[in-house]
Amino acid sequence: MTDVDQSLTLPKNLYLETTNRCNLRCKGCILYNGNWELDRDISFDELTMITDQLPDLEQIMLHGVGEPLLNPALPQMIRHLKNRNVYTLFNSNGILLDARWQYDLIDAGLDELRISLDAATPKGYRKIRNNSEFNRIVRNLRSFLNLQSSMHVNHPRLSLWFLGTEDNIFELPEFVHLANDIGIGDIYLQRLVYFQDSGGYGVAKSAKSLRNSDGAYLELIQKSHELATRLGIRFEASGLCKPGESIQSETGAESPWMKCYRPSTLMYVTANGNVLPCCIAPFSTIDFASIVLGNVFETPLEQIWRGPKYKTFREKLQSSQPPKCCRGCGILWSL
Ligand code: SF4
Ligand code: SF4
Repeated sequence: MTDVDQSLTLPKNLYLETTNRCNLRCKGCILYNGNWELDRDISFDELTMITDQLPDLEQIMLHGVGEPLLNPALPQMIRHLKNRNVYTLFNSNGILLDARWQYDLIDAGLDELRISLDAATPKGYRKIRNNSEFNRIVRNLRSFLNLQSSMHVNHPRLSLWFLGTEDNIFELPEFVHLANDIGIGDIYLQRLVYFQDSGGYGVAKSAKSLRNSDGAYLELIQKSHELATRLGIRFEASGLCKPGESIQSETGAESPWMKCYRPSTLMYVTANGNVLPCCIAPFSTIDFASIVLGNVFETPLEQIWRGPKYKTFREKLQSSQPPKCCRGCGILWSL
């Protein structure tokens, strides 16, 4: 083991896939294609076994591939993490977010809830998310905000997410109006991630990506950004950048993956215990085995973090021949 490995502190950020089961089969998700792993939920005891190994954990994302609200142990997990003072959030499609879940999430102390909507109309929702529950999700969000107001709380912070593709980007201005109408003050544009080493599936294809597209999409995004600003809505893009930058950034840059810090700062643990370098990798290569760096049900996390597979992955990331999942990726990509 080299000095570099030993000097790396354990990650303070963890993605933990509390379940990989889902009630949807969205066209931008690998579940549309068939998951890499067998269906499974993480239990409360497994969550504590995993997170106890990260004493300096500051933030946890209780999602990966799958719908976290399908795991009934979620409130107990959130309460435990909040007792440890860990910032706790997850992504959800919002379909199951009924009155019971709304109360339980507030009561457990969840910090942030990100709703992936990708559309401003039922028709647009069907096109990307392959489902007809758009109106139900909007109703859930309105009633959640009413409950927060009646309980005099402002947690969890709610945000709406929009996966931008050629098939739905035209709904973006209406999406801004929808957020304003519901009363949600944070929206995010999410960049499409697709396999770098196969033709892809659903809408997760290079041809559907807004990246490198002509100026029309950029103008649409910028106008939506201006509209959001006028309405007092914060509009950002995944990867901590501005929405317009998110479809332009790093285009043509040499070896953009070298700037990625994720394999040295965070971990992603799947519902089957496999440790991956980031949340993007399962969506960007068909070679799932190449992104598995260990399994937490077999090996302690610290041993995996400082082990030979992680070391090789980090070294390749700093070369002109990166791991398969990282080709075409870079610092501003995120889910
Ligand atoms: S994108 Fe989310 S909601 Fe859609 S199928 Fe994948 S995990 Fe489920
Ligand atoms: S370059 Fe992309 S795929 Fe590779 S580790 Fe970073 S975020 Fe993950």
